[in-house]
Amino acid sequence: MRFSVITLFPEQVRGFLAQSITGRAMDKGIISLDTVDIRDHAINDYGKVDDTLYGGGTGLLIQCDPVYDSWKTLCSEEEKPYTIYVSPKGGVLNQKKVIDLSKKKHVAIICGHYEGIDSRVIDEICDEELSIGDYVLTGGELAACVIIDSVSRMIDGVLPNEDAYTNESHMDGLLEAPQYTKPSSWHGKDVPEVLLSGNDAMIKYYNRTAALVETWQKRPDMMNKLQLSEEDWQKAIAFKKSL
Ligand code: SAM
Repeated sequence: MRFSVITLFPEQVRGFLAQSITGRAMDKGIISLDTVDIRDHAINDYGKVDDTLYGGGTGLLIQCDPVYDSWKTLCSEEEKPYTIYVSPKGGVLNQKKVIDLSKKKHVAIICGHYEGIDSRVIDEICDEELSIGDYVLTGGELAACVIIDSVSRMIDGVLPNEDAYTNESHMDGLLEAPQYTKPSSWHGKDVPEVLLSGNDAMIKYYNRTAALVETWQKRPDMMNKLQLSEEDWQKAIAFKKSL
């Protein structure tokens, strides 16, 4: 899968994604990343890409042409990338959106900075606006990295096996059960005995019930969205009482 990032700070994006799992996925050719520096498409020889706001207000807005010309470099007669503007005004990213995006061939992400980008060019070239949460960042580069990182994990070959991403929080509407590693006892806290038993059926039952309770305790809003059976509720209530 190909990712392109249109940004004033290409090094921020490349530096982050070159590390660890995404870096290895690039080395293996499973994903590719290219960046387009908006300043390379400045409207004058001094690298001007922004201007003051019509109607007043503080700060500078990135102008249409530098963004449009940057984006055009990614388009051909036959193909345009699926184009996202990362913005606090967009729909908030979630695992379902991540999975949908992982099926695209080429995703281009446009990062704003300062006050953002002139709305006209966003309306003309973007397929959607996406936010990474209800707060405001100084620029879209972190948001682009969050999207690329989360989408990459869903692509075959990026993680060692399918289990590594299917048994994770948010994949089935639940948070993952609490997890433990060695030693089995730490600061007087013991790993639940069932996890040491080697009994796969019991471990599976335990993990599902513990996941229900984890979600109930940490994200009651998610619990309300689940269509839980009476049996699941009974299991969760009994488990919660036993803690
Ligand atoms: N003036 C904009 C507003 O009030 O909606 C905020 C601009 S923000 C300071 C600069 C850039 O950071 C935005 O253009 C956007 O690309 C990025 N950004 C800020 N918050 C974000 C968020 N929650 N999710 C994704 N991108 C964000």
